[in-house]
Amino acid sequence: TAAAAPPRFATAAEALHTVFGYEQFRGEQAAIIEQVAGGGDAVVLMPTGGGKSLCYQIPALLREGTGVVVSPLIALMHDQVDALVRNGVRAAYLNSSQQPSERAAVERAYLAGELDLLYIAPERLGAESAKRFLEGGTVALFAIDEAHCVAQWGHDFRPDYLALSELAERWPDVPRIALTATATETTHREITSRLSLDGARHFVSSFDRPNIQYRIAPKLEVRKQLLDFVRSEGVDAEGAPVSGIVYALSRASTEKIAGFLAVNGVNALPYHAGLDAATRRRTQERFLREDGVVVVATIAFGMGIDKPDVRFVAHVDLPKSVEGYYQETGRAGRDGAPATAWLAYGLQDVVQQRRMIDESPGDLAHRRRLSQHLDAMLALCETVQCRRQNLLGYFGESSEPCGNCDTCLEPPAAWNGTVAAQKLMSTIVRLHRERRQRYGAGHLIDILRGKETPRVRQYGHDSLATWAIGQDLSEQQWRGVVRQLLAQGLLATHGEYGTLTVTDAASAVLAGSAQVMLRAEPERAARTRGPKAA
Ligand code: ADP
Ligand code: ZN
Repeated sequence: TAAAAPPRFATAAEALHTVFGYEQFRGEQAAIIEQVAGGGDAVVLMPTGGGKSLCYQIPALLREGTGVVVSPLIALMHDQVDALVRNGVRAAYLNSSQQPSERAAVERAYLAGELDLLYIAPERLGAESAKRFLEGGTVALFAIDEAHCVAQWGHDFRPDYLALSELAERWPDVPRIALTATATETTHREITSRLSLDGARHFVSSFDRPNIQYRIAPKLEVRKQLLDFVRSEGVDAEGAPVSGIVYALSRASTEKIAGFLAVNGVNALPYHAGLDAATRRRTQERFLREDGVVVVATIAFGMGIDKPDVRFVAHVDLPKSVEGYYQETGRAGRDGAPATAWLAYGLQDVVQQRRMIDESPGDLAHRRRLSQHLDAMLALCETVQCRRQNLLGYFGESSEPCGNCDTCLEPPAAWNGTVAAQKLMSTIVRLHRERRQRYGAGHLIDILRGKETPRVRQYGHDSLATWAIGQDLSEQQWRGVVRQLLAQGLLATHGEYGTLTVTDAASAVLAGSAQVMLRAEPERAARTRGPKAA
């Protein structure tokens, strides 16, 4: 038989103390390790920072053979292997970043039974040659990290993951553990069925991150709002700057925002996939080592970065899904100390994302899925209830109002927006019915507020029955109305200019048989600082 790496420790506790230097297991780690070390399969749903890595690293050290870890993140592989080797674990990885000679050395070590852990990229493991290679040695267990990548419904699908279902057939006696920090019901079900984990034990941790304070503000002047936020949250009790991440959607805006913050005295750096590798590495190093660095990044940043003391995560653009938002905000406060997740979003975000969905490649089912993801995100933004309740509810977890989010700390007033909605909707309907015209929010608001613009004069819109009937609300309030009606599915937006139409659901409102309740919003820049939990 093939050479097999012998067990390194007799008990899980011994491995925990000796290799990792920790006193105790956290949460369900001990139970998960017992299950896998004993040869059983496991599906692990645990939030970011919960301590998933130990759940497969320790069983690999307790079992004969090599633990094979499938991970899609090359940077993460690299960091984990480095850390393990420093702690005396014989770990290595195989991925596309390596020279052939390096790869050959790793392969030799595996076949000789000299590795406790071997990290491997999913696309590699899909190949028949790689499976045959693994069969030449002894596999202690398979760990499938970021297992939500197998779920087509999810936000991070990777086709390579589908091939992993074959591991069950090829290695029926080798335990498998699938791990993820993304945990909707649907994703959980897909992971179980697609990876053939029907006989597995399921370990579902709470996804609550009580030390993170969630705040979502209407977007007004976003850079100024962000600067106010960073100035209030970006310092510790002694006034020293703290580390934070700002997420933006485009590469260009990460650079603009980083520049703006830097000019205003914040130690801010941009990060996106378009920067050269050396710059990205330098930025990441500085973020990890220096205090008070704020990285302004696209979502490319943060995956697999284990920095426990990130004090805030800010979003200046609307995330595409609740899963994404949860994962990104989850990078704050991994050390358990108070941290803040702040998001600014506005009407333009909704228009832009609807357009991106309309234009996205892929079939109708795919676009519908993207649309459902966006709707759930909008519902979180517009809720008048506790943000955390909404967020955890999305992951199937019920909870009480948290006392540590903006709506708990300053409950928003609701107002009856039925008449405002009717004014806006009937303007849209009349323009279309009488003149075959469609417009975006800006011009519709001009009509409602009776603003005599060149376009109003050109098209004679001052003769419409709804001309100037909305002077009771400011332009900003009207934009809030439009945004909330979009979020409630009463309006729809189309194309590059975000032209608005009413949906079928709106007819009850127009007919006066349904009411519209809206969230009242502050007139000027939203207050950004709220009390924190101890
Ligand atoms: P995840 O993969 O779930 O995001 P990690 O495995 O990276 O989380 O663990 C997050 C952090 O918690 C790491 O710094 C890790 O070393 C630490 N950690 C994990 N388990 C324990 C434990 N039992 N005791 C103390 N620290 C732990
Ligand atoms: Zn709350």
